[in-house]
Amino acid sequence: MVDYELRSSGIHGTGIFAKNDIKKGTKIVEYLGEKVTKEEGTHREQAQLKKAKHGAGQVYVFELDDEWDIDGDVEYNDARFINNSCDPNCKVIIKEGHIWIVTKRDIKAGEELSYDYGFDDEDYKDFPCKCGAKNCFGFMVGEEYRRKIVK
Ligand SMILES: [Zn+2]
Repeated sequence: MVDYELRSSGIHGTGIFAKNDIKKGTKIVEYLGEKVTKEEGTHREQAQLKKAKHGAGQVYVFELDDEWDIDGDVEYNDARFINNSCDPNCKVIIKEGHIWIVTKRDIKAGEELSYDYGFDDEDYKDFPCKCGAKNCFGFMVGEEYRRKIVK
């Protein structure tokens, strides 16, 4: 397994940082959590969204497939600390019922790991992005949705 550490992030709260150089295409950590039905997942997502809008917490429900969601709001899920970025160095790969955070490019020791949360264009205004990337959109919006939004 890859060595990473949790520490305070310039982007938001706690982040995950590479302890060593990591090659492109490396699995960093699995996004763990409670497997729940789509119905339950949607219910929890709405509740988390409501709380997050008031500045408490984040949305941790992750879409696994058409039937299931993963609620990553559990202590053993380190992946919940990975921040969103508009120019991320990791991506999400869902394979055989598991959600993996995988490096998108070579990463240097000490770099903060990030991925695109892929939030849609509905509630993004409640989620300002401070990732610091040159192309930072200003809000956490998935790449595929950004062009749909006219600022
Ligand atoms: Zn950004």
